[in-house]
Amino acid sequence: MGLEKLYALPELEYGYNELEPYLSEELLRLHHGKHHAAYVKGANDILQRMEKSRTEETDFDTKSTFKELSFHIAGQLLHSFFWKNIAPSGKGGGGEPIGMITDVLRDEFGSIQRFKKIFSQTAMSVEGSGWAALAYCKVLNRPIMMQIEKHNVNIIPTFKILMVLDVWEHAYYVDYKNDRGKYVEAFWNIVNWDDVNKRLDYILKH
Ligand code: MN
Repeated sequence: MGLEKLYALPELEYGYNELEPYLSEELLRLHHGKHHAAYVKGANDILQRMEKSRTEETDFDTKSTFKELSFHIAGQLLHSFFWKNIAPSGKGGGGEPIGMITDVLRDEFGSIQRFKKIFSQTAMSVEGSGWAALAYCKVLNRPIMMQIEKHNVNIIPTFKILMVLDVWEHAYYVDYKNDRGKYVEAFWNIVNWDDVNKRLDYILKH
């Protein structure tokens, strides 16, 4: 099969300065261009190492390799997800939820306000580096929150993700220093509900 296909850093659908004042250009440049890019490179480096081992028929350390690979691929996928999940205010970012997701959230959490509170608390209480994720369980047909540590710990297999919030320090430190709460609050001004609805629609149909 070879390695014609590797992971690539996706382009943002908005300019680096377009999420201001909630996320600064400097922060977004670093987050996308350095941190996210490092996960793409990390994943591809491991895949290339594995490929080399295949052609040279040498063994690689399966335990450390697949652990590392899981971390980097998850980092690549979650970031790719996250960039679509936010948008400049005025270009679909922020405001109250619209469409189908509104009913789904109201049914599950009682009110949009309570959903926001629980999602924010999930993000706030991630131990160390990680993500808050709203996911969907097709067995129970209800949304369920995941509190992801690093990029790949506490993931529930097969659950599809509706929205995520990166709460690694690299996601907010440049703008908010150690005040994760202020960053989480700012997120509600740029969350892209249209994107969340598209994902929900896709999940329900597949
Ligand atoms: Mn990040």
